[in-house]
This record gives sequence, structure tokens and C-alpha cells, in this order.
Amino acid sequence: MSKLAVLGGAPTVPRELRKVEWPVITDDDRAAVLQVLDSGQLVSNSDQETTVSVLERRWAEQVGVAHCVGVSNGTTALSLSLAALGIGPGDEVIVPALSFIASGLAPVHQMAVPVFADIDPVTFTIDPGEVAARITPRTAAIMPVHLHGLPAEMDAINDIARRHGLAVIEDAAQAHGATYNGRRVGSLGDVAAFSLQVTKNLPTCGEGGLVTTGDAGAAERVRLARQFGEVIEPGKARDYVSYSLGWNSKLNPVQAGFALAQLDRFERYEARRQANVPKLLDRLRRLPGIQVPSALPHASHAWHILRFRFDPAAAGLPAGVTAPAMRSALRRVLRAEGVPLSQYQLMGLPEQKVFVDRTGFGRGYPWTVASAAPEPRDYPVTRAVVDDSLTLQKRHLNPDAGPLLERYADAFEKVWEHLDVIARMAGSVEAPPAGSSERREAA
Ligand SMILES: *Cc1c(COP(=O)(O)O)cnc(C)c1O
Repeated sequence: MSKLAVLGGAPTVPRELRKVEWPVITDDDRAAVLQVLDSGQLVSNSDQETTVSVLERRWAEQVGVAHCVGVSNGTTALSLSLAALGIGPGDEVIVPALSFIASGLAPVHQMAVPVFADIDPVTFTIDPGEVAARITPRTAAIMPVHLHGLPAEMDAINDIARRHGLAVIEDAAQAHGATYNGRRVGSLGDVAAFSLQVTKNLPTCGEGGLVTTGDAGAAERVRLARQFGEVIEPGKARDYVSYSLGWNSKLNPVQAGFALAQLDRFERYEARRQANVPKLLDRLRRLPGIQVPSALPHASHAWHILRFRFDPAAAGLPAGVTAPAMRSALRRVLRAEGVPLSQYQLMGLPEQKVFVDRTGFGRGYPWTVASAAPEPRDYPVTRAVVDDSLTLQKRHLNPDAGPLLERYADAFEKVWEHLDVIARMAGSVEAPPAGSSERREAA
């Protein structure tokens, strides 16, 4: 039995393998950027075709929808999607309690109140039963998040939406290419938002976003909103009339050109991930006390983030060892072996200061607009997941990550041969109050 790296043994993951990075930047990406610089088409509000309009067409085809609109980032894609569906002051939008902060902020940008619903403990996506329980006369929309790359339960969500006359906005920022009942995410609700941020599965060299929809009116409203409320189309002279409230949220053609070069390789990279990642997960699934992410019979997983939950009792650790303490010990020991596990998120969205303090616009709008703004509730599943899980991000997205992921599996198996050390380390950690364990460590 080899010695743990944390106790002075050799790390399982060799240094040279750790160079596998995300995104992969090739000469094709460099050429695409230079081509934009030399084209003279440096903004998307052009009367010519630009890389932005080409990317929009290609992504609409990829998703299987009629319309795609490029915007400055994924957060803006969410905000403008809500705006395009008429979500505004006094409205409530049901959002999962576990997501990236942007899912909660976007409704507030439209002066709507985010109402948080708890998640499913295994899939980590919004629990349809919780959605139904959060509906009030003010509810205007549901925003399921395809968290970590797994599609939310869209049939159940669309069903609830239909029964109550609600809009459905997919937050697909983490799930490019994932499918649900054979259809691509981005085509499953009324409007969908994607991010092209550099860490996502379809990355650009910085920031970008894409809105997809089958609704021509919604697409047109997003288009106007992103460019000062103006109609600006290739082949048409700009008239400088603002038809609706607009912002400047245009996608930069350099970013679009880079994303197009990445899109050419997207399917190939995705196929490699579908080969590499499940091999790692199949090995970890055999270890007691780890809950491993998985695809569903009716939904593929884009593996954007790999989240593992840890259960001390199932791992056979002594009764006094709490899940947060086990998680902290594993984090330290596995990082020493060369597995870059991190805690993400540090809290559920309802616990974020902006939502606790309700600091929005002016004197606490939108919460003060909606006089019946819902009181905070409990989110036990989200809290448990935040307390007992760790994630892997980015490196496993690299198409050549296979050998690295094999070493990750070796490292987990090695550590599982030394669970007595984990028990000792976890037992000596004073059990912190729920939800606070690594916030201290991260601070
Ligand atoms: C990244 C992300 C966003 C926001 O995208 P940006 O391009 O970073 O603004 C929104 N929702 C989720 C779930 C995300 O992961």
C-alpha cells in the first residue's frame, strides 16, 4: 500500500500530466482571430455579414431552433431573454437555489424577484415539486438551470408552466450540446441562454453569450435590446431609431470568430469527453461513500462540472465524522495527490448577501415593488450538497484528458485504501456549523 502524498509519499498524478488545460487553443483559433482583425468587421452592428451573424446561424442549426442572437455574455443573455418575454417589475421568477450567481441576478436586472426552489439531491437540477410549491399569483416565469451539464427535468417543468401560463427560460450556460429526449438544450423552453465564457464547454477567448429561441418575436426583441433598441440588419441602412429600451450588449466579432473556430471542433471534443469522463466515474462509483454524477436514460450529460458528494457512514467512517469534515479531509489529501478538487459553490443562492440584504435598485427594488415578495425559506437539499460535495472543473474538458483522469481514479482508489487517515483527520476537525466549513478555509 503506497504512502499518501499528504504524509510524504509520491503524488499519484505526475506533474507533466497536470499541464492538460482548458480551453485548448490551436493555430486555427489564432488564424480565426487574425482573420477578423484583417476583415475590417470589428463590430456586429454592421450592414455586412460578420462572424457574429455566422456564429448565430451555425449555433441555431446546432441547437435545432430557428433563431440565435449573439450578446456580450451569458448573464446578459439571461437578462435579455427575460426582458424579451416581458418579465418585469413585480414579477416573480422561480430559480434553483443551487446555481451560478448570474441565474439569481438576471431576474433582478429586470426588476423581477427571484424565488428560489430547492434542487434534486442526485441530479442537482431544480426539483419540479419545489417549483410547483413556489408558484404564486405573481409568478411569471421558471428558469431551470442545466446545472453542470445535465438537463433539468424539462417535461415536468414545461407541464407546470403550461398549466399556470408561465414562460420558461433555460439557463444552458453549462450544458452546450446536452440532449433531453433526443432534443438539444436551448430548444426545450421558450427562450434559452448560453455563455461562451472562456471556461465553458464552447469557449471564446474571453466573454460572450448566445440566446436561442423558436419564437421570432422574442428573437427580434433580444436583438433590439442588445443594440440601443435599433433595427440593424445586414444589407439595410441603419435608421438610428430606437424602437424599444435598449442597451449595448453586442457580441464582439473577435470573440465570435474564436468561438466559431472552437465550434468546428466542438463535436470532436464532446465525443472525447463522452469517452474519457465516464471511465473515471465508473471507477469512482465502485468506492463506498461517493455519489458520482451520471447521465439519465432520457438525458445526456455535457460533464461541464463533475460534482461528488461524500457520505461518511456509507464509507464506513466512525459515527462522529460529519460530511463537511470528511469533505475537508478528502479535499486536502486528494489535492496533495494532484487531484485539483475544489468546493463550489460556497453557499446556495438564497444565502448570497445580495439576496439576504435585498440590495437591488434604489430603495430595495424589486423586492419593495412586489409587496408580497416571498419570505426566505429553507433549502435543505441545497445546503446539504454545498456542505458535503467537491467538484472537478476545466481540465477534464480537454479532449486529451483521458490519461490524467485515469491517474485521478488511481488517486481516489489510493486514498480509499487509507480511509483510516481520513477518519483521523476528519475526527480531529472540530465539526463546524452546517454551511460554514470551508467558507473559512476559502476566505
Ligand atoms: C457562466 C454561467 C452564467 C453566466 O455566464 P457569463 O457568460 O459568465 O455571464 C449563467 N448561468 C450559469 C449556470 C453559468 O454557469
